[in-house]
Amino acid sequence: MSSSNRPTRLFFLLCCVGLLVLPTLGLPSGGPAPVVAPVITDEALRKHISFLASDDLKGRLPGTPGAEKAARYIADGFKRAGLTPLGDHGWYQEFPFIAKVKLGAKNRFAWTRDGRTTAARVDEDFRPLSFTSPAPVEGDAVFAGFGISAADDAQYDDYAGLDVKDKIVVVLPYSPAGSNPHTKFGKYLTVRYKALTARTKGAKALVVIVEDDTFKESQIARLRYDDASGDAGLPCLAISRQMANAMFAGKTVAGLEQSIAAASKPDSFPVAGVHIALEGEVVKETQTGRNVVGLLEGSDPTLRNEIIVIGAHYDHLGLGGPGSLAEKEGQIHNGADDNASGTAGVMELAAAFAATKPRPKRSILFIAFSAEEKGLIGSAFYVEHPPQKPRAIAAMLNMDMIGRLRDDKLTVQGIGTSPDWRPLVERANGGEAKLALTLGEDGYGPSDHSSFYKKQIPVLFFFTGNHPDYHRPTDDVDKINFPGEHRVLDFVYRIADAVANQPAKPAYVKAKSEDPAARTSGGFRVYLGTIPDYNAQVQGVRLDGVRENSPAAKTGLKAGDVLVGLNGREIKNVYDYTYVLQELKPDQEIEVVILRGTEKLTLKLTPGKR
Ligand SMILES: [Zn+2]
Repeated sequence: MSSSNRPTRLFFLLCCVGLLVLPTLGLPSGGPAPVVAPVITDEALRKHISFLASDDLKGRLPGTPGAEKAARYIADGFKRAGLTPLGDHGWYQEFPFIAKVKLGAKNRFAWTRDGRTTAARVDEDFRPLSFTSPAPVEGDAVFAGFGISAADDAQYDDYAGLDVKDKIVVVLPYSPAGSNPHTKFGKYLTVRYKALTARTKGAKALVVIVEDDTFKESQIARLRYDDASGDAGLPCLAISRQMANAMFAGKTVAGLEQSIAAASKPDSFPVAGVHIALEGEVVKETQTGRNVVGLLEGSDPTLRNEIIVIGAHYDHLGLGGPGSLAEKEGQIHNGADDNASGTAGVMELAAAFAATKPRPKRSILFIAFSAEEKGLIGSAFYVEHPPQKPRAIAAMLNMDMIGRLRDDKLTVQGIGTSPDWRPLVERANGGEAKLALTLGEDGYGPSDHSSFYKKQIPVLFFFTGNHPDYHRPTDDVDKINFPGEHRVLDFVYRIADAVANQPAKPAYVKAKSEDPAARTSGGFRVYLGTIPDYNAQVQGVRLDGVRENSPAAKTGLKAGDVLVGLNGREIKNVYDYTYVLQELKPDQEIEVVILRGTEKLTLKLTPGKR
């Protein structure tokens, strides 16, 4: 049987029946070869991935020419397949996202000692940080070492015995162990953490000294959006080492870094006689992202109103920055596996289903999402503004990193989101092309299917696993397993084909929470079961939902609640939430404060063990 004119769906259905009958008929086991997707070839996959992951597209950062080229390439593929454009701009569904931040007009930093005031120059001596809160403040200066308060965890506390209430805290970059993330100070390196700590201690503002003698070269002072809404809740500015030395009069930044590191003992002090007045303002710049959307109309007059979504994100990290695991920025992150592989998969499955005779009964919507790496922004926008309305989405199949099949291993997440999935997935994995499947229940996860699951849509997520090139410039075409990806796509084709033709659409169920221990800890000791909405533009953390039977569910938290306090700490953004989570202990009851509509509620919650 050749792949080009693969047997029709009827044959596939027969296969299924055959499998049942065969044993009784005494025919040899293994049965007929499983159905493969028409027209898909390794060469076509190589062509797509080579183009999408080429240096020319410069890592496909949303809003850049490289991402636009990718979107046009995908649209051309959908057009060749004979799909119908279903965006609000032809093939494209446009959506806004915060691409970067730039300096606002109101930036000021001046310090006074003995009646003499020194005014710093913006962009030369100081700069606001992207998550600064805009309020102008003034106060006495206090030097708080590296701004770390971790007496329990790291036996180190720069704030021990230090009064910073209503003062302006000045801190060193990173930690006594430098910027190395693999030390006991690893989780205290970021300025977001230092901001939360200074705010919790009652400081009026945080001033962080940069790591580089050349202010303009500083990574810390770089003005860039860190993909989290919600500012730090206090003004946060970076100053040059020269400016700090002038303020310290006698002591030097380098000297303090060395002496504290050598003794591994804090050396915090009020900066005698220094009063600071500052203001930081940044402006968020939005750009337009583009989802690419194409429809294959179903053949059945009724079932065509139920839509199966086959999707993948096509954006990636550009030259690095937030999300990159590369040592330094500036290198093209080609993103061959993440996620040129999934994007090529969507294009090839579109061609395969368009060539399938008879046409599937349900309609199939092929979507290439953008801004996934920035927090699932494209898919979140899609589910809030679905252009296919009023037709409903019956199921969503998401492919993210399917290009590195090793030892036949494929992870399929979302099994717990419909009772239909397990038997269907296992049936589709028949014959000699059998894959070694790892099935996961959860519908939530770090990719676009999560946006659909939160809308009570059954989802499946296909993933060939992590690898050392993940989110690094080395995620290149030469490491893609093309025959392996082809097998994965045949498997996805069989699943989608079955869903698109079965009498009833898959039933949705809320997935049982997997054993928390099964999940990667992410450095947390506790498990709450909350699902943060990374896109909500709020102060605090809006919940997309909570996991079934989780501590959060037992406390009564629900989708739409905005979490503004945890364990006595104010929560202004997802970073605050992450840091406070790291401090919690299993089975120790804490208070959680939420806004539910206009109501402010304080509830008791007992974290579970991770
Ligand atoms: Zn990805």
